[in-house]
Amino acid sequence: MKTAKLAKSYRMEDGANLCLKDFDTADTANFKSKEEAEEKLQKDIARMADLQDKLYAQDQWSLLLIFQALDAAGKDGTIKHVMSGVNPEGCQVHSFKVPSETELQHDFLWRTTVQLPERGHIGIFNRSYYEEVLVVRVHADALKNEKLPASLVTKKIWDERFEDINTFERHLARNGTVIRKFFLYLSKKEQKRRFLERLDEPEKNWKFSASDIHEREYWDDYQKAYEEMIRNTATKHAPWYIVPADHKWFTHLVVASAIVETLDELGVSYPKVDASKRKEIKEASKELLKK
Ligand code: AMP
Ligand code: MG
Repeated sequence: MKTAKLAKSYRMEDGANLCLKDFDTADTANFKSKEEAEEKLQKDIARMADLQDKLYAQDQWSLLLIFQALDAAGKDGTIKHVMSGVNPEGCQVHSFKVPSETELQHDFLWRTTVQLPERGHIGIFNRSYYEEVLVVRVHADALKNEKLPASLVTKKIWDERFEDINTFERHLARNGTVIRKFFLYLSKKEQKRRFLERLDEPEKNWKFSASDIHEREYWDDYQKAYEEMIRNTATKHAPWYIVPADHKWFTHLVVASAIVETLDELGVSYPKVDASKRKEIKEASKELLKK
């Protein structure tokens, strides 16, 4: 069946020798149109709601979903669409912007650590500590702002950050946080089209930022940084999905499938009721029926 395990083919558990150029930003698998994909998307969204309910009731695992991409790749829209069916009570979304003064007083994992999802919850990071090997790598000034002791800023800093991120994620995985990371992979041409749309359509003007256009000049540097990031941090316990992003409807479909596949593999279920609890339930219903 063409829809079974759709997301698996975009999942990287080992990034060695990965070349982004080998991936197709406009890929839509076997789907020909948004309409054709809609049925599966709705099914996945409904299934996700059911699985989230079990995750919450079980109160053991937590799910951390990390979204990284260049501007206009559709992170916000994907989060909005894919999570539309989940219970907000069990879900937390955090967007990470340029670090504040307070955040810069700490190590680079601090601000994200305090936002990690509780057991039973789904946590969504719209950008994350991965910015520390992306924008901070592409713009030397950003690293200078971080107040690091000079002796610690060496050529090895990016490898050290990859190592620290991998160790951190392994620690989280060993403690019950399931991590899935999504890189929304967009073409330069489609980014331009979406920027022009933001300029032309009044209701999209608010999304326009002059600095986004400026960042386009660093396109190749970003592609390199993303490639290096995935090569170094795609692991079995915290895989990257390279999600084709030129067609928004397909991006939503792959992300929704990935979340459903992950929760399915985890086998979340409602907690088992033991004998004494069963007795308690029986007595409570007897009591209620009497009144
Ligand atoms: P947006 O998500 O469009 O609101 O933009 C947030 C901005 O914050 C982006 O330009 C990011 O690159 C930037 N940003 C996020 N995290 C960091 C970081 N750790 N260091 C520097 N800039 C960051
Ligand atoms: Mg932006």
